[in-house]
Amino acid sequence: MEGFDIRTLALTNLLLGLFLGIGSFVFARMHPSFAGFKSLGYSYFLFSFGFILLGLRQYISDYLSIILANLAIVAAFSLLILGILRFLKVEKYLFEKISVILLCVMLFTFVYFTYYQNSVNTRIIIFSTIIAGLSLFAGLKVLTNKDRVILTFTRFLGFSFLYSAVIFLLRTYFAFDEPDLNNFMDAGVIHALSLIAMQLVTITSCFALTISASQQLANKLTMQARIDSLTQIYNRRAFDEFAVKSVQRAQREKTPISLILMDIDLFKQVNDTYGHQVGDKVLQEFSLRLKNSLRPYDILARYGGEEFTLLLPDTNTATAMIIAEKLRYTIAQPVFFLVDGNKLTVTASFGVATNQGEQIDWQQLISFADQALYQAKGSGRNCVKLHNADAHQMVDN
Ligand code: GH3
Ligand code: MG
Ligand code: MG
Repeated sequence: MEGFDIRTLALTNLLLGLFLGIGSFVFARMHPSFAGFKSLGYSYFLFSFGFILLGLRQYISDYLSIILANLAIVAAFSLLILGILRFLKVEKYLFEKISVILLCVMLFTFVYFTYYQNSVNTRIIIFSTIIAGLSLFAGLKVLTNKDRVILTFTRFLGFSFLYSAVIFLLRTYFAFDEPDLNNFMDAGVIHALSLIAMQLVTITSCFALTISASQQLANKLTMQARIDSLTQIYNRRAFDEFAVKSVQRAQREKTPISLILMDIDLFKQVNDTYGHQVGDKVLQEFSLRLKNSLRPYDILARYGGEEFTLLLPDTNTATAMIIAEKLRYTIAQPVFFLVDGNKLTVTASFGVATNQGEQIDWQQLISFADQALYQAKGSGRNCVKLHNADAHQMVDN
């Protein structure tokens, strides 16, 4: 056959399997939280093993170079799909059973069509139909998976499998008409294309999974950078980002936006009396109580120390005051925390500010809320104060 050399393609598949296998095992070791990479590694090694046996056709027995080689390649293909299913955290029990059944069917039919009624074409038909079926299954599974991390590349993987399904179906189809091949190594273009399809699937599966895993890691890091580790709510950095955008949007859409700034009262005493660890638990319980009272679009953050912010989009002053009062009441409920059986009650002071269409920016809004909070502290704590916009305008004028 001009153009493609089956022996060379088998050799590149062998090398590819070897190196991708090593890479997958290294990745599995570095990132044990991702499932599927070990299966992938075994699959690539098994591919290599199969192609070594295929390539040694003239030197080893038919049992090894035909039966075991083809079984190894189909098993490798199943294992590859299993690795992908594991990675995608998809149900795989049925697939495992079907794979085992297919391998048994293959073993018996290959023995029959090698020793009792030797037919290369029948073996090609059996092998190709199984690979086409597996490819079709994998392609559809990947393309219909809802939980795609990187859309483009998992799509690429899905289409590689579909391409493989088409090529192996064509190979089955042509094998019906072709004269029986004497030697697989002398096979024609469709056989070469099927080997290339296998290369494509092995390479794209490795890339798709590693790219997808690295994207998941990056997402996790971004998430961690935005979350306060003690209270598991947004930190100041994340809050500032949200707040700038939210205030700008409110101005554009001419909707009110309110901000509540909260500070735990006499928190230093809690630390001094019960210790820092109890102080930490109070901060966690405080955040939890706030979190449970939020509307879905409210943004809560730990702004620093024992200071918290709550951004309320599309909320006017009256509603913000009601919300703040509700939160104050929730926080001040007794049995806030039990220390050695003693009830510990904590209160907080609240400052509220609203942007009702004025051209104020985020920094101004927070400084207004801060002024109101300062007033609340001065008025004996455990109360809500509203920033007086009129007074502010008078000062400005
Ligand atoms: P006020 O009512 O005026 O707000 O009094 P306060 O004691 O709450 O205010 P102050 O600013 O004097 O003290 C705040 C305390 O919060 C001091 C600091 O040690 C404590 N704190 C800040 N961050 C943490 C934290 O992460 N864990 C614990 N346990 N304490 C913290
Ligand atoms: Mg305080
Ligand atoms: Mg403070």
